[in-house]
Amino acid sequence: MDQFDVIVIGGGPAGYHAAIRAAQLGLKTACIDAGLGKDGKAALGGTCLRVGCIPSKALLDSSKQFHNLQHSFGDHGISVSGAKIDVKAMVARKDKIVRQFTGGVALLFKGNKITSYFGTGKLLKDRQVEISAADGSKQTIAATNVIIATGSVPIELPFARFDNKLILDNAGALDVEAVPKRLGVIGAGVIGLELGSVWRRLGAEVTVLEALPDFLGTADRDVAKVAAREFAKQGLTIKLGAKVSKAEIKGDTVEVTFADAKGEQKIVVDKLLVAVGRRAYTEGVLGDGTGVKVDARGRIDVDEHCWTGVEGVWAVGDCVRGAMLAHKGFEEGMAVAELIAGKAGHVNYDTIPWVIYTEPEIAWAGKTEEELKAANIPYKTGSFPFAAVGRAVAMNETAGQVKVIAHAETDRILGVHMVGPGVSELIAEAVVAMEFHGSAEDLARIVHAHPTLSEAVHEAALSVDKRAIHKAN
Ligand code: NAD
Repeated sequence: MDQFDVIVIGGGPAGYHAAIRAAQLGLKTACIDAGLGKDGKAALGGTCLRVGCIPSKALLDSSKQFHNLQHSFGDHGISVSGAKIDVKAMVARKDKIVRQFTGGVALLFKGNKITSYFGTGKLLKDRQVEISAADGSKQTIAATNVIIATGSVPIELPFARFDNKLILDNAGALDVEAVPKRLGVIGAGVIGLELGSVWRRLGAEVTVLEALPDFLGTADRDVAKVAAREFAKQGLTIKLGAKVSKAEIKGDTVEVTFADAKGEQKIVVDKLLVAVGRRAYTEGVLGDGTGVKVDARGRIDVDEHCWTGVEGVWAVGDCVRGAMLAHKGFEEGMAVAELIAGKAGHVNYDTIPWVIYTEPEIAWAGKTEEELKAANIPYKTGSFPFAAVGRAVAMNETAGQVKVIAHAETDRILGVHMVGPGVSELIAEAVVAMEFHGSAEDLARIVHAHPTLSEAVHEAALSVDKRAIHKAN
């Protein structure tokens, strides 16, 4: 039986970061992955690289270019007529990017001398792992440490089963071959808004049905307000408090029944995207008698160091508690590899950034005002609109703002909330400041290049003490 220092089950972001870091630290490492590319061949990288973060950003960018060509180039004095979108070419570009990245992980594994196994891994007793290959063959390998990184899968509604022809999950919504005339989306969460935006910009009539009464309930209220206004301007119809009870396929369409404050209603759509969250994927991963526990939501039980409580068995990423974000999983994977190697691996869960890649983008780190109020923590806020930032005006992207929340007494930054152009990048500054326990005063005293979008962060920090320069305080 082949013996390793570390076996990683799952080659998605959390798993491949764990494997590469372990190998860098001189540990003999193997990684088992069952992922397939669109061509049916083995493809590392998990949901993020194959059907998540990377392909969705490829389509978001393509659709943004098309939208700008039609709607904002005119303001720059650039005119075009007869703009067309070739959806097949757009999807093929996305597929090429995916192949580049999944192939890239395979090369990194080779370069780091990580042994790659293709198949499904199952943890057995005594840190042995059984690998079942697609052809039905089985083999068992063993290690001193096993890291489970099996990720998550989309939650399926019992009345709207995915067929990925008419009723789509996140993967299906990336591979639609022509712009649907009418797209229904269940769930105004991250996936619903990002993929709903893609198809809206390409011309689909998009209706998003959200069960909760509040829009973007976990985001800052001011950010959610700006986002709702901008999405409405783009023509996204978002119905809140809409409880869907039925989705019936009728010919080439789907009839969706939902109830909101106005009572029961029906809409007919050409495609229906169901994006109501994801659940940890742990089925079949644990053999009998491993001692590893799973919670009521199917997530592997771990402590703050991602240790399962069983000697040498760890779990990271979407299959454990916490935010289902690729970067949270990466960091857990690397931290566990470092702990195994006797180093001080650590993840600061308080400063994990959230980003929603809509237009405008939404990003935040730390606490919202609502959370601070509920915890009785005194705070002060400062905000600054992109409409007063020279660079944003020059770019013609003025919607949105940056808000900094600081402790009322210590001035320590507790949260930063952004909606606007490029905020997926700007949030990094807030994360660094918070990671170093910075104050609003620290941010306010840092020199920010002019003219840049980052001046909104600077001015928002100045505004915490009512000394923003380019607005009335
Ligand atoms: P989500 O949790 O972000 O949103 C799901 C939404 O569906 C929620 O608003 C919820 O209230 C609503 N909902 C649930 N059941 C419903 C029902 N029956 N009818 C109507 N609405 C209903 O989930 P998601 O958008 O599916 O994304 C899944 C996971 O993937 C999330 O954890 C997300 O963080 C992650 N993800 C992150 C990014 C990113 O970081 N940019 C992108 C994509 C996905």
